[in-house]
Amino acid sequence: MTQLSPSHRSPLATAEPAARASALTKVYGGGETGVTALDAVTVAFDRGRFTAVMGPSGSGKSTLMHCMAGLDTVTSGSARIGDTELASLGDRELTRLRREKVGFVFQGFNLLPTLTALENITLPLRLSGREPDRAWLDAVVATVGLGDRLGHRPAQLSGGQQQRVAVARALLSRPEIVFADEPTGNLDSRAGAEILGFLRDSVRELGQTVVMVTHDPVAAAHADRVVFLADGRLVDELHGPTADAVLDRMLRLEAPGPVR
Ligand code: ADP
Ligand code: MG
Repeated sequence: MTQLSPSHRSPLATAEPAARASALTKVYGGGETGVTALDAVTVAFDRGRFTAVMGPSGSGKSTLMHCMAGLDTVTSGSARIGDTELASLGDRELTRLRREKVGFVFQGFNLLPTLTALENITLPLRLSGREPDRAWLDAVVATVGLGDRLGHRPAQLSGGQQQRVAVARALLSRPEIVFADEPTGNLDSRAGAEILGFLRDSVRELGQTVVMVTHDPVAAAHADRVVFLADGRLVDELHGPTADAVLDRMLRLEAPGPVR
């Protein structure tokens, strides 16, 4: 078969989701004081799609990202990246899978302060013993607009620039899936819009799969699909969201009393 661009992949090639959770339950602590953060969540994230995860504070959004990215263990049920069941992996295999198949963007950037922007971006690849593909590195750096800042350390960069470094780092290994937990939460609206545009372009133009937690309906409207969590359960979803439609669902979720 000839090489196809991501948007022209055959249905067969996209049939298996990039990641999926099946009856995923996560309980923090145990006994009387145990907190059920996720209660039998079943959800699949299709390849080459941009999905937003929304829900009230404490509804389990971060827990879902962490469990699906292999950053935290599940209590019961299953979390898979591609066809790999995360619970079946030992520590070393899990570390390898996270480095090679998963990109994670944290709200607080999580950059290493002593490394330059470029060193931060290339660190995960180097840790897995690979050299970055030069053309791809150039493309990622150009797209996130960091060209003249690569030699700077995080403290010398604005919040928006630091988050761009974090997004470039997540994309450099061409992971199966990028999880972003409120990536625009610490940014002003202009820097936030740049990050959102960049994430969306990485999906549309590069075929990347992105799952993003946000509490902002305008941010969620950049996605192809929005799933809603409440009290650790998946309660709703929207396809082709507009900011108004997202806001409407959010208000219904947060309103006391019967929903709709
Ligand atoms: P969200 O990201 O939607 O705000 P979280 O996934 O952070 O929600 O949290 C879901 C629930 O799990 C909350 O009740 C929270 O207090 C609880 N929780 C999260 N992390 C921990 C933890 N490490 N230990 C105990 N409880 C936790
Ligand atoms: Mg959270």
